[in-house]
Amino acid sequence: MKQLFTIFGNPVSHSKSPLMHNLSFKGLNYNGCYTRYRLEDGSKLRDKFFELNIAGANITVPHKEEAFRACDYLDEFAKKVGAVNTIVKRDGKLYGYNTDALGFLKAIEEFKDIKRVLFLGAGGTAQSTSTILKDAGYSVTILNRSAKRLEQYKEFETYTFQSFKNIKKYDLIVNMTSAGLEDNSLPCPIEILDSVIKDAKACIDVIYGKETPFLKFAKKYNKSTKDGSDMLLYQGVIAFGHFTNNKFSFKEIENYMKKAFYI
Ligand code: NDP
Repeated sequence: MKQLFTIFGNPVSHSKSPLMHNLSFKGLNYNGCYTRYRLEDGSKLRDKFFELNIAGANITVPHKEEAFRACDYLDEFAKKVGAVNTIVKRDGKLYGYNTDALGFLKAIEEFKDIKRVLFLGAGGTAQSTSTILKDAGYSVTILNRSAKRLEQYKEFETYTFQSFKNIKKYDLIVNMTSAGLEDNSLPCPIEILDSVIKDAKACIDVIYGKETPFLKFAKKYNKSTKDGSDMLLYQGVIAFGHFTNNKFSFKEIENYMKKAFYI
């Protein structure tokens, strides 16, 4: 029987996930179909899951915390960060995972000799990725526009634009904000970027599919850069593994899923 998968979020119209997963289902000859569902009220997620008889789902903005609450079982990392972006139904129970952070970790593997990382931004994505980086042995500093969100980062060195003192050299600078997504803004004042980028080995943006002002700026300094496409791809590959009970290897899934980025 064909299994139905979906992405829940609001908005979801521009999500690449249906294409990514459907290409993999087709390529790997798996009887699945992946659609999209715009969900306004996140508290209805669990009911919708059962009502639509879905086998698995991804969850995007703004429902990752609601998705966390909707699950019967959580994997250790999802439990730790309080956000779920992948749910699988097994025997009528919902199992929750966070594959965003693992996807990010995999995406930065290619940059060697990275120890100190500076995050620009302190939202939901920064929270899970900073935790996985810390667990993997990186030293992560968080710089955010406003102080409020920094309260959740008790175990990290944190700064606002006003309090930031560039006393360290950072190997990797990551734009974790939505600055540049739908506007032309930089994630922090240009003076801060000037002072941190010159010593960095590489700069990454989690925004994908466009060259953001942040990445343009980094290129002026001749730094290696990368957008968020690999993070998106790898979180999808890992989610697909959960959806299909790890029937296929990472490489097999990646092979088909990455075609979504050339279409
Ligand atoms: P949140 O809404 O949780 O957090 C947004 C963050 O961006 C906050 O720290 C906010 O600061 C900051 N911010 C927003 N606008 C500006 C601005 N103009 N200047 C400076 N700071 C700003 O967002 P998420 O963490 O969910 O998402 C962040 C980004 O990650 C998005 O661009 C999203 O598209 C991307 N993403 C990419 C993925 C991928 O697979 N590649 C996966 C998931 C997300 P403040 O606290 O001051 O408001």
